[in-house]
Amino acid sequence: MAKITLDNLAHSYLPKPASEDDYALKELNHDWADGEAYALLGSSGCGKSTLLNIISGLLRPSQGRILFNDRDVTDAPTAERNIAQVFQFPVVYDTMTVRDNLAFPLRNRGRDEAYVAERVQEIGAMIGMEHMLDRKARGLTADAKQKISLGRGMVRKDVNALLFDEPLTVIDPHMKWELRTQLKKLHHDFGHTMIYVTHDQTEALTFADKVVVMYDGRVVQIGTPEELFQRPEHTFVGYFIGSPGMNVLPADISGRTARIEGAELTLTRGYSRLEGKVEIGVRPEYARLSRDEGLPVTVRRVEDVGRHKLVRAEFFGHEINIIAGEDDVVSADMNRVVFDAERVNVYANDWRVPGEAA
Ligand code: ADP
Ligand code: MG
Repeated sequence: MAKITLDNLAHSYLPKPASEDDYALKELNHDWADGEAYALLGSSGCGKSTLLNIISGLLRPSQGRILFNDRDVTDAPTAERNIAQVFQFPVVYDTMTVRDNLAFPLRNRGRDEAYVAERVQEIGAMIGMEHMLDRKARGLTADAKQKISLGRGMVRKDVNALLFDEPLTVIDPHMKWELRTQLKKLHHDFGHTMIYVTHDQTEALTFADKVVVMYDGRVVQIGTPEELFQRPEHTFVGYFIGSPGMNVLPADISGRTARIEGAELTLTRGYSRLEGKVEIGVRPEYARLSRDEGLPVTVRRVEDVGRHKLVRAEFFGHEINIIAGEDDVVSADMNRVVFDAERVNVYANDWRVPGEAA
C-alpha cells in the first residue's frame, strides 16, 4: 500500500498548451494518504479519468511528478506501479472461464494454485458469481462481465492502490448498492488506498472517507461529506452536493451586513471589502418560511418528497429552495424566508471567504 503524492501535476492533451484553458487537468499538489478511501467526484468532462490514468501510468502528465511512498514513478510503466484499476466498461478474457479471469492477476504474480483457488472462491462470493465460476465469460451479460472486472480488480491483496473509474455504470441498481458495500468492506478489511471515481454524489458520499470534488479540470475541495455540506469552499461544491443544492444569491457585503436586492441580512462574521462577484450561499436545510421576518419571496410550488417538504420559491428572479419538515404548515401568508445566520457562507468570485469573528 502506498501514499501517493501529486507534485505540481498538470496535464494538457495539446502539444503546445498556451493558456490555462488548454489544460484538462490544472495544476495540482496533493497527497493521497496511505490506506484512505477517496471518492473523486465531478461532472462529466471535468478531468477525473485524466487524473486517474496519470496515477495508474496509462497517461504521462505534461507537467509535474507522481510519487508512490516518496519514490518518483512518473516514468514507471503501469505494471511497475503495482496497482489494480477497474474501468467503466468490462475488460474480460471472453474465452476464459469466470474462474480463470478472476485467477489471472494472481497466476500472473506466480501465486500457488491452492491460494488462487481459495481467493477466487472468496471473490466469486463477493461479486455474487460463486455459482458461475466455470462458465465462459463469452455470452455473459455486460453486467456480469463488469462484476468479473471488479472481482479481478479486488483479487490481489498486495497492491499499492485500487483505482475505480465509474465501475458501477453498467450494473443494475440493486447490485450497485451491494457491490459498493463489498468495496467498503474490502477497504475496511485490507486498508488499501482506494480512489473511486464517480459523478454521483450519493455514491461518493457513502463510499468515501474523503471526497475530492473536481470542477473544470481543477480540484475545488477535498473534505469529509460533512465539510462539503457545511462549508463548501467553492459555489460549485454548494450546487453539486446536496439535493437540491445550495441557494446562491448576489450580495453587497460590508462588515457584518449583506444587502441582497435591497433586503438586509446580518451575518455572524465580518468581511472586509470584497472584490468581483460577491454572493451568499445557504443550503435549503437552513432556510425556513416565515410570515413576518426575512426576505420577501413568492412561493411557486411545494413538493412532498417523503421525509420532508421542498418549497420552491422566488426572490427577485432568483430561485430559493427551502426544506421544511414533513409536518410543517406552509400557508399562503408565509411569503418570507429566513436564513440561519450561522449557516450563511460568503463567496467572492466563487471561492468561500471565511470572514473574521465579530
Ligand atoms: P471525466 O473523466 O471527468 O469525464 P476526462 O478526464 O475524461 O473527464 O476528460 C477531461 C477533458 O479532457 C475533457 O474535456 C475531454 O474531452 C478531454 N480529453 C479526455 N481524453 C482526451 C484525449 N485522449 N485527447 C484529447 N482530449 C481528451
Ligand atoms: Mg471519465
